[in-house]
Amino acid sequence: MSLPVDSVSIAGAGPTGALLAIPLQRSGAHVTLFESRPDPRGGAGESGRSINLALADRGIHALKLAGVFDEIRGALVPMRGRMVHGQDGSASLQPYGLRPREVIYSISRHRLNEVLLRVALRQPRVAVRFEHRLEDADVEARVAKVRDLRHGLDVSVPMRPLLAADGAGSVMRRRMAALGLIEARESDLEHGYKELSIPADRHGGYRMAREALHIWPRGGYMLIALPNDDGSFTATLFLPRHGPLSFASLTSPASIEQFLSADFPDARALMPDCVAEFQRNPTGFLGTVHAAGWHASGTAALVGDAAHAIVPFHGQGLNCCFEDCLEFDACAARHSSWQDVFEEFYAIRKPDTEAIAAISLENYLEMRERVADPKFQLQQALALELERRFPARFIPRYSMVMFHHEIPYRTALERGIIQARLLEQLTAGAAALEDIDYGLAGREIESRLAPIVISPG
Ligand SMILES: Cc1cc2nc3c(=O)[nH]c(=O)nc-3n(C[C@H](O)[C@H](O)[C@H](O)COP(=O)(O)OP(=O)(O)OC[C@H]3O[C@@H](n4cnc5c(N)ncnc54)[C@H](O)[C@@H]3O)c2cc1C
Repeated sequence: MSLPVDSVSIAGAGPTGALLAIPLQRSGAHVTLFESRPDPRGGAGESGRSINLALADRGIHALKLAGVFDEIRGALVPMRGRMVHGQDGSASLQPYGLRPREVIYSISRHRLNEVLLRVALRQPRVAVRFEHRLEDADVEARVAKVRDLRHGLDVSVPMRPLLAADGAGSVMRRRMAALGLIEARESDLEHGYKELSIPADRHGGYRMAREALHIWPRGGYMLIALPNDDGSFTATLFLPRHGPLSFASLTSPASIEQFLSADFPDARALMPDCVAEFQRNPTGFLGTVHAAGWHASGTAALVGDAAHAIVPFHGQGLNCCFEDCLEFDACAARHSSWQDVFEEFYAIRKPDTEAIAAISLENYLEMRERVADPKFQLQQALALELERRFPARFIPRYSMVMFHHEIPYRTALERGIIQARLLEQLTAGAAALEDIDYGLAGREIESRLAPIVISPG
């Protein structure tokens, strides 16, 4: 089966749009990406946005299938666990997985996007129009209005079809919702984020353990830091946007200094410019996009964050978007009309993206509060121990999400609920792993969790 098209337009050449272009053109389509920003290749990248990301198995799997992974492999910094920093300056590493390969990777957002664009533009049938912003779309007439920002001109772009990979604030999604073609809701988190930096030491070395995702959990808020490959870390402070202790209340240099020094004294000592950065860098919004129906008339479809942006607390937004690209391509290979492609893509991805949205929201509480709780730490250690003893049936939810692309998000959510109850039951009254009744654990796991098929290795 093949699609009766020779040209596909994609709005947005971020990670989703750029990756999606690669398999689509391989199947014979001519793909034109319209990107509102200037060409990022060769530039320094945008400051003030999250400049590194956690890449995990789902994202890596998609990059490998697209033939891109080898080009970014060298820029990845492995993170083997969470380094949890207490208020008293203590630090302890909680490993992410059981096996050496079960790590996640920090990657520069800018570098990743640049590589994706380079690879996309090497393909014979891909073109990118930078500084071209999608402004409107007439779905019935199958024409989109794109603004050429460099020349101040409007350009009419045929939608045969138009795939909207224009991110969480998608113009296309809002337009389709305004026309009643889909339903869409954006639910903002009351917390925002701000980036700060921990520079390398004067020899270019790391000033904290390199291969970890650092977390300073403080209950109502938290600071995290991911390593870059140049000895620095990018730190991100998550804090309420409004209220007594919030981005809105911390306005003077003295109040910012006081807050950071009191709550994160060890991190503060590593961030010489944090007060200026706090004032200079924008406060980012976080939220979840819930859209019912991602497509209209076989003419337009949403993909990536445009369809299902999520909060970043499981480090899965981008990984999920890359999984979209694989799934979209697989659907395109199975059908001969775009309407059918879009319908199947939606049917497959909607339950999974809803599942990861829920998991990601839950993980905020886990990161900012529960990681410091001894009971939670025991349950985490037990989850890994149960995986060691019963690998065919028990895989910690974190591992299902981060290390097993073959396990759909919805399965991770469903099994995770059963497993959480079991961990609660087994740790009631236990202070250490030696106190656990593993006979009972085995019987309960056998009766409650069906064997799960995972790929070897
Ligand atoms: C603080 C933070 C931390 C995160 N950390 C992680 C992480 O560790 N791991 C992870 O997997 N995910 C993470 N994410 C999520 C990840 O950033 C997103 O899921 C991912 O960037 C989505 O890719 P996208 O291409 O769909 O959208 P975007 O990255 O938003 O790209 C959209 C592109 O479209 C362009 N565009 C927008 N509007 C228009 C228009 N009208 N016309 C033309 N072009 C347009 C934009 O310029 C951009 O290039 C994080 C997000 C945040 C906010």
